[in-house]
Amino acid sequence: MRLVLLVLFVLCFVICLRAQSHADQVKAIQEDPRVQAAFDHIDKNKDSILREWIAITEVNAPSKQEQERAKFIESLLRKHKLEIRYDSAGNLIATRKGTAGGPVTVFDAHMDTVFQPGLKIKASVREGRVYAPGIGDDTRNIEALLATIRALDAAKIKTKGDLVFLFTTDEEAGMTGAKQYTKDNKGKVDYYVALDGGYEGFTYAGIGINWYRHHFIGPGGHTRSRTPPYSATLPLARAIARIYELKVPANPSSNLNIGMLGGSEVVNAKAADAWFTVDLRSTNNEVIADLEKKIAAILDEEAKRAGVTVKTDVISASPAAVLPGNRESNIVKIAEAVHRAMGFDPPIGNAGSNNSSAALLQGINSISTGAGPCSDSHALTENCEIEPLYKGIKKILLLEVALAGLAQ
Ligand SMILES: [Zn+2]
Repeated sequence: MRLVLLVLFVLCFVICLRAQSHADQVKAIQEDPRVQAAFDHIDKNKDSILREWIAITEVNAPSKQEQERAKFIESLLRKHKLEIRYDSAGNLIATRKGTAGGPVTVFDAHMDTVFQPGLKIKASVREGRVYAPGIGDDTRNIEALLATIRALDAAKIKTKGDLVFLFTTDEEAGMTGAKQYTKDNKGKVDYYVALDGGYEGFTYAGIGINWYRHHFIGPGGHTRSRTPPYSATLPLARAIARIYELKVPANPSSNLNIGMLGGSEVVNAKAADAWFTVDLRSTNNEVIADLEKKIAAILDEEAKRAGVTVKTDVISASPAAVLPGNRESNIVKIAEAVHRAMGFDPPIGNAGSNNSSAALLQGINSISTGAGPCSDSHALTENCEIEPLYKGIKKILLLEVALAGLAQ
């Protein structure tokens, strides 16, 4: 017994010491005069950061039509000592070379928006917020990367590993930009940070999201036509009630939602097609597969019971991305320490759904975070608080230097 306690004590001591060392490491970097000079540079350039953030946002970039915005960002990057190229997916890639011997660290922000081509975007500033479609998702993070590049240069900060600034295409429509980059660079990237949404915390796993539309198909008919068969709304109601009885695990984090439904177009007709949607999410693909199977069984039983048939359309499906050991990896430990050092505590949030998943699915250690608090993403009323962005930019800069390593 005593031996067990001793072993536990030593184990705890080692673990605590290691945790401490990440925190100490980050604290030392944060207190380095060069990093403090970079922070000062950010504070002194608040106005120009806001102006540039707005200017990038006003170049609309619907998914697969990012070229104009990419050219604009490229023109800003050209003012710095960076290796700049595009890849086959249209991703804009700028590498800030390290002095050698450090991890290759990628920071990704996506260029595309969900807004229609031709939309004229004009930002407005009032009461400490900036309003414009796309200002938050994901232009705040594009601007954060540009501001950190300038601050790193101004403070003459060198990192050991390469810092790769990756401006991706097509995140909103299927992550094809990030999928291409991570496939092309598998084995060459040590850390991948997807900046998308987020401010106070970060995530280290990608949640799987499957969307379905289930239809019960019956003969329909007038209200007074002979029954059974019933309106196809009857099996729909029974099925929905039963689906909500299913046990959805909280661990691994999972969700189920039935958000939309429809039936006949008029009051005095039985529905020939009664449908509803299911939004199924989990960080574990087996949970999704299991719930999918149970839902299919319920649908079949209720269709049979009411004498109708069932049909399922998959609206979209993207698998969960969980990398074994990622929670204990260096990128997560450092990100944790960086967030705490900046006063964000507790920093670890739920699984996300963004370009980080593309990296995790390629086996690259990855997290996702962001540079500022925003609201109404994907809406024309999208807006962000201005002042916190500057702190968010400092957090990103500290994360860049802590991951890639501060060179002497
Ligand atoms: Zn986004």
